[in-house]
Amino acid sequence: MRWKDVAAFLAPHGWALLSGDYGGVGVGGLATAGGIGWLVREHGLTIDHVRAVEMVLADGSIVRADASHHADLFWAVRGAGANFGIVTAFEFEVDEVGPVGFAQLSFDASDLAGFLQAWGDWVVGSPRDLTSFLIVSAGRAGQPPMAHAMAMVDSDDPDTVLARLQPLADAAPLVGQDVRITDYLSVISNAGDASHSAEGEPTARSGLIGRVTPSFAAEAARFIESGATYFFQLRAVGGAVHDVPSDATAFAHRSAEFSVVAFGSNRRHTNDRWNELIAPHSSGAYLSFDTEQGDDAVEAAFPPATLARLRGLKRRFDPENVFRDNANITPA
Ligand SMILES: Cc1cc2nc3c(=O)[nH]c(=O)nc-3n(C[C@H](O)[C@H](O)[C@H](O)COP(=O)(O)OP(=O)(O)OC[C@H]3O[C@@H](n4cnc5c(N)ncnc54)[C@H](O)[C@@H]3O)c2cc1C
Repeated sequence: MRWKDVAAFLAPHGWALLSGDYGGVGVGGLATAGGIGWLVREHGLTIDHVRAVEMVLADGSIVRADASHHADLFWAVRGAGANFGIVTAFEFEVDEVGPVGFAQLSFDASDLAGFLQAWGDWVVGSPRDLTSFLIVSAGRAGQPPMAHAMAMVDSDDPDTVLARLQPLADAAPLVGQDVRITDYLSVISNAGDASHSAEGEPTARSGLIGRVTPSFAAEAARFIESGATYFFQLRAVGGAVHDVPSDATAFAHRSAEFSVVAFGSNRRHTNDRWNELIAPHSSGAYLSFDTEQGDDAVEAAFPPATLARLRGLKRRFDPENVFRDNANITPA
């Protein structure tokens, strides 16, 4: 089952379970790793809506894990689920989500560092009803760098939506805009029904950062302009994500404000520049956005205390490391 199917099922009830920005993603991987989606600043991560799971464990047993049954497993499955078993059923608490404002704004980002910082300040300074993702690409053939900001505002009032967007609209020359009142289902129904058929293995790197500081903005601009990435994205992950204590789920990087993702076509080039320019600003990573799967990636995704607890649980629930075809948490 994919997230657009979930959205279609819930929409007639006036409900939504916020997942990501693409309806073609499957439920299982996202709901066991995190889930950074539209309205994340207002409603939190997808894993924060999980109330129980039914899982097949490495020894073949089937268990139900929730706050009072197998509570350790319930903690682990919300952030590191792929390492612990196969979830065959989820119970979620969903949100009431009515009509929303959805904006796509394109900017001439000639002052790339200045724009990155303006966007970051705008997000953090906005009420939680606004969540925004930003995609930036270097200018080609004499063209300026372009920034494409998408934002969802949980309001059906055009004046409120415009008021939220106005500070960003003033940050740089606007070269394209589409703002509409729509619904969550329409936004997430952006995938076809055919099975996934993409080929190739692009490199993707993930980081989690605090505020977009002047030094991060300057280094990110250098990174983008170096050609190390063809797709650079910043996503808001603050607001309600911060309300959950960092030891409440295996996704523990709860103080981050932004997720940073860079796709590259040359692994070494992307990694070298990433390690030089972006990694020093990053205090963690989101497992689902990183194609590196080794120990460094696991240590970036889970802070030391979280990882130690996960390794102990791995020894208890999967001592033979059956579930290892992923960013692997080895048994303690
Ligand atoms: C185009 C695109 C857009 C994306 N956008 C977002 C986004 O906006 N926000 C976001 O948070 N993430 C996003 N992601 C990342 C996405 O969350 C991960 O790729 C996720 O793992 C996909 O889950 P899947 O079930 O489709 O993948 P799969 O490839 O089937 O699985 C990925 C991993 O999850 C494990 N897994 C899958 N199902 C289960 C299950 N039932 N029980 C236990 N483990 C399971 C698999 O074993 C594997 O390790 C995006 C990915 C893509 C390709």
